[in-house]
Amino acid sequence: MKIHQDLLVLRGQERVITSQILEKLQTMEDSKAYLSLGHSSLFDYLVRGLGYSEATAYQRQACVRLSREVPEIKEKIDHGLLSLSTVTVAYKHIKNKSRDEKLETLKSIECKSTREVKAYFAEPAKTIKIKQTEYKNKVHVRLELNHEQFEKLQKLKKLKSHKFNAEELLLHLIEKELKTYENIEFKRSQSKNLRFIPKRLRNRVLMDANYKCEYPGCEESHFLQIDHKLPVRLGGQPLRENLQVLCAAHNRMKG
Ligand SMILES: [Zn+2]
Repeated sequence: MKIHQDLLVLRGQERVITSQILEKLQTMEDSKAYLSLGHSSLFDYLVRGLGYSEATAYQRQACVRLSREVPEIKEKIDHGLLSLSTVTVAYKHIKNKSRDEKLETLKSIECKSTREVKAYFAEPAKTIKIKQTEYKNKVHVRLELNHEQFEKLQKLKKLKSHKFNAEELLLHLIEKELKTYENIEFKRSQSKNLRFIPKRLRNRVLMDANYKCEYPGCEESHFLQIDHKLPVRLGGQPLRENLQVLCAAHNRMKG
C-alpha cells in the first residue's frame, strides 16, 4: 500500500533527523553556548529556545548526556534499535554505571518497547515500613518496626523515665534533631560573616528580581543564588545595590 510505504520512508527519515539533532545538541551542551543566549541549562534551551515540551526536552537531554559516554546510542537510534523514550527510561537506571555496563544494558533493551523497558528495570517492591494517610487536618502515620527496633524505642522511653509515651518521644526527637540543624545553619551563616546576607535583605533582593535569574534573557526560577556584583574578595559589600539574583548556571558562568 502506497500510503504505508510513504510513512515507512518518512519514519526512517525521522530517525535520522533525531540523531542529527542529538549530534548538534551535544555540541550545544559541550560549548554551553546556551548560557549567553540567556538559558540556564540545556533543558531550559530545549523548552524555551527550541519549543520542545518539557517531557520531550527531558528525553533529548537524557540522550545527550548518555551519548557523551556512549556515542553508539545515536547510531542505534538511527537504525531504530533504541528510541528516545527507551533511552530515557534506561538513563535513570544506568547513569552512574561504568561505560561497559551502560553499553551492555543498552544492548539488552534493543528493540524493546518503552513498556517492556520499564518492566525490565522494575524493582521488587520494598517492604512498607511507614504507611501514611492524609486527612484534612492531620496525617495518620502507621509505623511498622521489627522487634529489635521496637526494643530500642522501649529502652529509650525507659531512659527518659517515662516522661513521654512513644508518640511524644518521636515528636520530641524530631524537634530536638531539627534544632540541632538550625543551630548549625545559624553558626555557619555567622562564621562566614563577610558573605553573610541577612534574611530580610536576601528576601528583598529575591522579591525585586521577581524570583527569577537576572541574567538578561534568563527565566530560571530554580537554583537561585544571591550574587555579589562586586565579589566579596574584591571588597564587595552585602548591600542591596551590590546584590543580584543569578541562577546557579549563570553564577558559575560569571566565575
Ligand atoms: Zn540564569
